[in-house]
Amino acid sequence: MRKKKLLVSVTAILASLSLLLSSTPASATVTTFGKWANRTQTMYVPSSSANFTAWSSGAAKWRTNTSFNLSTSQGSSSIYYAYDVKNSSVTWDGLCTYTVANGIITKATINLNTYYTQDNKYTSSIKAGLTGHEIGHSLGLNHTSLLETSSIMHPYTFNSNGTPARALNPSSSDIAVVNQLYPILPAAAPDSKGIASQEDGIYLHPSWSVYYEDEEALSQAAELVVKGTVSKEKGSTLKTGDYPGYSTEVSITVSEVIKGDPACVNQQITVSQMGGTDGVVTVYSDSSTHLKKEQEVVLFLKKIGANTFIPINEDDGIFLNEGGTFFNIANNIELNSIE
Ligand SMILES: [Zn+2]
Repeated sequence: MRKKKLLVSVTAILASLSLLLSSTPASATVTTFGKWANRTQTMYVPSSSANFTAWSSGAAKWRTNTSFNLSTSQGSSSIYYAYDVKNSSVTWDGLCTYTVANGIITKATINLNTYYTQDNKYTSSIKAGLTGHEIGHSLGLNHTSLLETSSIMHPYTFNSNGTPARALNPSSSDIAVVNQLYPILPAAAPDSKGIASQEDGIYLHPSWSVYYEDEEALSQAAELVVKGTVSKEKGSTLKTGDYPGYSTEVSITVSEVIKGDPACVNQQITVSQMGGTDGVVTVYSDSSTHLKKEQEVVLFLKKIGANTFIPINEDDGIFLNEGGTFFNIANNIELNSIE
């Protein structure tokens, strides 16, 4: 079989980077999606957690620097709960699941994924930066852009070369946004400025363990890289109430295998994306754009079951054919050609 090579359009990347640079002020502030009705909250962590120190250090980063008075306590909670999970079927190392109604956060559940954080490269300070990141989501903060590595709300923990990718403490800008969300004076009117109107529902905000800077790095991390067409929208798969596990599946008819088992050609594989609905509750993932029937795609995949795969870092691993050219569904960077 002829060796296949992925070519990225360098000019397209440079063009989109310069576009981003020119449109993004150096200290662009992080955006928000909602806020708690009360700025004093207690986050509960199971006493059995091996990461209690990381959780309380992450909370302290916000408590000591902002007006959000977040204390940590041992125990469980149905309102504000942080606990560890071990899940090898995802590429996130941390996840915040929160409920928003009319712009008010009513519930937050935060996870550390010990499948990743048990690795030595997750030092205590990296783990505290990661819990600080997820706790930042639970306060109402969205992700920053890729260029803003000075914010703790940068979406990635490590670069693919192993260096840390995000700031381990809230930036002055992160702090200012939280202080604006939670004014100290009780008389001050709730400040809803900058809160994007967001549909009521349950939302998933992950932290990705690794940032793959280009298609070559993505391809190295992937077990399977294919070109194909969405042949069926299979709907949601879930266990009712297990919101981080809500997912939506499609069938892909593979037309070309770029990396992995060549026997996949002309076969169907199942691709699972985060977020889904049980008919009553809809769970939205901020990093997952669900694929639609007949879309032509190039996918960088991790295997999670016999014939089931997830895109690496969700939208980061999906390129969509638009007019004969494949563009990344998250950042619109062009995948020039695959031959
Ligand atoms: Zn995040």
